[in-house]
Amino acid sequence: MARERQLPQPAQLPRPSRLSRRTLLGGAAATAGAAALAGTAASPAAAATREADVVVIGAGLAGLTAARDLVAAGKSVIVLEARDRVGGRVVNLPLANGGVTEGGGEFIGPTQDRIKALADSLGVGTFATYNTGKNLLYKDGKKTAYATDGLLGSVPPIDAAGLANAAIVQATLDDLAKQIPVDAPWTAAKADEWDRQTFETWLRANAVIPSAKFLFDVACTSIFSAEPRELSFLFVLFYIAAAGNETNVGTLERLTETANGAQELRFVGGSQLVPIKLAATLGDRVVLNAPVRTIAKSGGKYVVTADGTTVTAKKVVVAVPPPIAARITYDPLLPASRDQLTQRLPMASVGKAIAIYDTPFWRADGLNGQVVSDTGVVSSTFDNSPPDASYGALMGFIEADEARKYDGASEAEVKAAVLKDYTTYFGAKAASPTSFVLQRWNNETYTRGGPVSIAAPGVLTQYGPSLRTPVGGIHWAGTETSVHWMGFMDGAVRSGERVAKEVLAVL
Ligand SMILES: Cc1cc2nc3c(=O)[nH]c(=O)nc-3n(C[C@H](O)[C@H](O)[C@H](O)COP(=O)(O)OP(=O)(O)OC[C@H]3O[C@@H](n4cnc5c(N)ncnc54)[C@H](O)[C@@H]3O)c2cc1C
Repeated sequence: MARERQLPQPAQLPRPSRLSRRTLLGGAAATAGAAALAGTAASPAAAATREADVVVIGAGLAGLTAARDLVAAGKSVIVLEARDRVGGRVVNLPLANGGVTEGGGEFIGPTQDRIKALADSLGVGTFATYNTGKNLLYKDGKKTAYATDGLLGSVPPIDAAGLANAAIVQATLDDLAKQIPVDAPWTAAKADEWDRQTFETWLRANAVIPSAKFLFDVACTSIFSAEPRELSFLFVLFYIAAAGNETNVGTLERLTETANGAQELRFVGGSQLVPIKLAATLGDRVVLNAPVRTIAKSGGKYVVTADGTTVTAKKVVVAVPPPIAARITYDPLLPASRDQLTQRLPMASVGKAIAIYDTPFWRADGLNGQVVSDTGVVSSTFDNSPPDASYGALMGFIEADEARKYDGASEAEVKAAVLKDYTTYFGAKAASPTSFVLQRWNNETYTRGGPVSIAAPGVLTQYGPSLRTPVGGIHWAGTETSVHWMGFMDGAVRSGERVAKEVLAVL
């Protein structure tokens, strides 16, 4: 579903009028932008031509952060954004009850310092993800509620042999991840060995008890929205290593946990408030409805052509996911290594389904709304209710094989499948939400999947160095280029900060 075209901004947010097309698109560009919105091509004659030190492509957290830092350093900047909104993989979806829910990036946690600092600077507060009560394990057709404050934390109660095996596997993964240099995983001593196998191959050799394998399969789809067979083992170790900051090496636990983990906090008013407020500080430097089609070098400059707007700039920052960056035409051609890299970093497959209820009724049953399941279109859920619990929201991830299975299904079909799962997990009351919101990233024109690009065997060792290496005056940003919290909002912000420094050093 192309949400970016369908959804107005939630009523209680700074209205898009504050970032309105009138403000953001001057004169001819506005006409062209409107034409693009209506699905018609803007005529080249109507295109506005602007000039800047730097043109940034993509108004997600990465592009906006880069623009903020470049502007702070006194440079002129224009941000070209394809959608009619900012935020990219971070989007607030309005609810019929006047509330808001999040269709993309949502949670933050410890060591995600840069997104937290950005939100603080913009006055966007956080609150704790609801985590009181028991988790649910649904396995082999049986439902088990379990406490998460025991010795095992949130590890589901599987058999003792499986738990022992899982503990060893987890410790091994964390140990191996410590051997990964996050800025160049392809240089790890065993990079070649690890990049020759999938996570599935490694798990089959190490998670030998089926219940332990089940735990890592679920962890894998929850973290990457990809199946273990899709991922290079080196990539998985890098992702674990990157789940930390400069002083805390990443751990698997930090990726999977709610308390003390990546799912610990949420943003008051919804995560998209962060890019919306950030874009507001940039004013008419941000141009919406401007999908970039070509980046051409001309003399010592770059001519970046978007629908409705052409920008001439000394430097270009491309802050879009790698496979989406590959859809832009480059003149001259990019080096083969860079192009082949982007051919090999597909987006994973993800959707989010949020069912809204009058109350978070599961809380009265002693449940925290978090499920781990071995079946269903949704096998992982969270309580996404607002901080005042004025209504209930159950959010479920639709991931990997399940997401692909439902890509072509109607919204009604997905809704029926999701509510069947929610009813299995939370009882009959879950069958009748007051409203239902679905966000399918695989079908979004300017993202085509999520939450992140993934690497199969052979990609990092053969092409990794091209991830961040600038090509002439073209510099690469986006969460996929971050050495910490790659794949997360924090990684996006870090990449924007890094690329701004990189560009300032050569401007
Ligand atoms: C379902 C889902 C759940 C997630 N959950 C979390 C979470 O809980 N916590 C967390 O930290 N992260 C989460 N993430 C990941 C997080 O949202 C991303 O890592 C982050 O938002 C990426 O930001 P970015 O700026 O790098 O890229 P993007 O947000 O993808 O921004 C790229 C921008 O470029 C634009 N664009 C694309 N092509 C063009 C073009 N040709 N011309 C102009 N503009 C273009 C896009 O429209 C977009 O606005 C989740 C993501 C998804 C999809």
